[in-house]
Amino acid sequence: MSAPDLPRIAVGALGGTIAMTSADGRAVSPSLSAADLTAAVPGLATLADLSAETLAMLPSGSLDESIVLSALAWARAAVAGGAAGVVLTQGTDTLEESAYLLDLFWDLPEPLVVTGAMRSPQAPGADGPANLVAAVTCAAAPDSRGRGVLVAFDDQIHLARWVAKTDSISTGAFRSPVFGPVGRVVEGATVYGATVRHPARLALPDPMPVAGLPRVALVGTHLGDGGALLDVLTETGRADGVVVAGFGAGHVSAAMAEAVGRAAAVMPVVFASRTGSGPTGRAMYGYPGSEVDLLARGAVGAGWLPPVKARLLLWSLLLTGLGGGVAEAFADRGRP
Ligand code: ASP
Repeated sequence: MSAPDLPRIAVGALGGTIAMTSADGRAVSPSLSAADLTAAVPGLATLADLSAETLAMLPSGSLDESIVLSALAWARAAVAGGAAGVVLTQGTDTLEESAYLLDLFWDLPEPLVVTGAMRSPQAPGADGPANLVAAVTCAAAPDSRGRGVLVAFDDQIHLARWVAKTDSISTGAFRSPVFGPVGRVVEGATVYGATVRHPARLALPDPMPVAGLPRVALVGTHLGDGGALLDVLTETGRADGVVVAGFGAGHVSAAMAEAVGRAAAVMPVVFASRTGSGPTGRAMYGYPGSEVDLLARGAVGAGWLPPVKARLLLWSLLLTGLGGGVAEAFADRGRP
């Protein structure tokens, strides 16, 4: 196929290891543009009619919700301009978060695929080129349409809703705990398993506020936690909502449960499981600090959403004025 016959795919780059180099062969930092990335991959131009745009050049820990929503607007514009699909490259550290935030608002059938790399371009066995090929293949495939935001990594395709970085170094860092990948890229083509349910997409406020965005905190817990950190948030008013990454099925200490109750009296509080796999409980345990206790104190269970995704869902609900429907939203979006 010649370029005009190929599907048009827009590639937007946000930075991350996939775009990181070093002048002295030591520690890397972001330096490559989207055009550099696409030009460096042999054969990529035979898969799609590519356009490339550098949206940011950051380590992914320095991305934030506003940057991700700007990338969303750019992706929407690319589709409006005729792209059949969109690829975003970014750092892997927060990729599971950006992908989920994009997914909450991506209401177009065109695939939006996020990828990155665990090894920088100058490293032996750099995985960026293969991941970019997988992502472009995925974005260009007609059977990727209507699946929301996907993450293509290591020739696996994951739903943004469940994907997680589960290893700090390995090239196979991305997994979807419990539910597994939804597809694979095999011999240049996508292969999908069963179709999955997609909760309705949220609508961004129009116009988008530039200031006063929701402040949703993520609070961990630990052996002997007396709830002091959560109380600071409650007492200072520094958060509009809180997610607690609880033990096991979403549990906390009895003292922390008191703090959850105090917080839930003034803002939405969601409890999630810090385990990285499995849902919050609903009616299994009844002691102080259990899910039954936290629910009775006004907190909401995150269901199958891990803490970081629960935080983004709560943030998005507050952004879109749906803060009154937190329990209903988590009941719907926190399950497969
Ligand atoms: N620290 C890097 C980042 O998230 C890791 C990566 O891209 O893989 O930007």
